[in-house]
Amino acid sequence: MTAMRPETSNETRLREDVCRFGRSLFERGLTPGSSGNISVRLDGGGWLVTPTNASLGFLDPAKLSRLDEQGRLISGDAPTKEVPLHTALYDTRGSARAIVHLHSTHSVALSMLPEIDPRAALPPMTAYYLMKCGATALVPYYRPGDPAVADAIKGLAGKYSSVLLANHGPVVAGDTLEAAVFATEELEETAKLYLLLRGMNPRYLSAEQVKDLVKVFGVALPEHGHEE
Ligand SMILES: [Zn+2]
Repeated sequence: MTAMRPETSNETRLREDVCRFGRSLFERGLTPGSSGNISVRLDGGGWLVTPTNASLGFLDPAKLSRLDEQGRLISGDAPTKEVPLHTALYDTRGSARAIVHLHSTHSVALSMLPEIDPRAALPPMTAYYLMKCGATALVPYYRPGDPAVADAIKGLAGKYSSVLLANHGPVVAGDTLEAAVFATEELEETAKLYLLLRGMNPRYLSAEQVKDLVKVFGVALPEHGHEE
């Protein structure tokens, strides 16, 4: 077996990881049909993204779209039409190494509720939601393919690692692919909890408890800096 250059072996592993996580998300019903897409930055520059009209359940590592730093296709199938969602978040959030976008049921449902705060789509329900997702921003509805959605994400200035697109689904960044996938799952489960408890006057975490998480775990909450 010939020795691989370090960036090549990194790319081989990441290609397999994208397919493995995609399949796992699809098989648990977290994004139906050919919806949803995943991207990951490569050590050698550029990034991998899932192709257009591809089900996350049946991805082929060899056919993932490989893009250069400017988002131009280098190899593989044509990329998802939702590439602008990914570039907008990468451009404004320097720490982002991977992005997951799903059409997951509970997150989409949450995005349509009238009471949602666009700067905190979910209340502080659990410690793990805050630790993995921080605060979640909500951006308005845009027609699929409308470039204005990228401007809306850029307008958040990289302060949010998790963004909910109204009537569409979540877009979540992580400093690794695994972190982005786990944060997307946490957001979906927290949206489910919110819907289960809606109208039941549940106890959320108190301001004191949130402050404690910020202090102990370094949870980054965009609003927090303004409070003191
Ligand atoms: Zn979508």
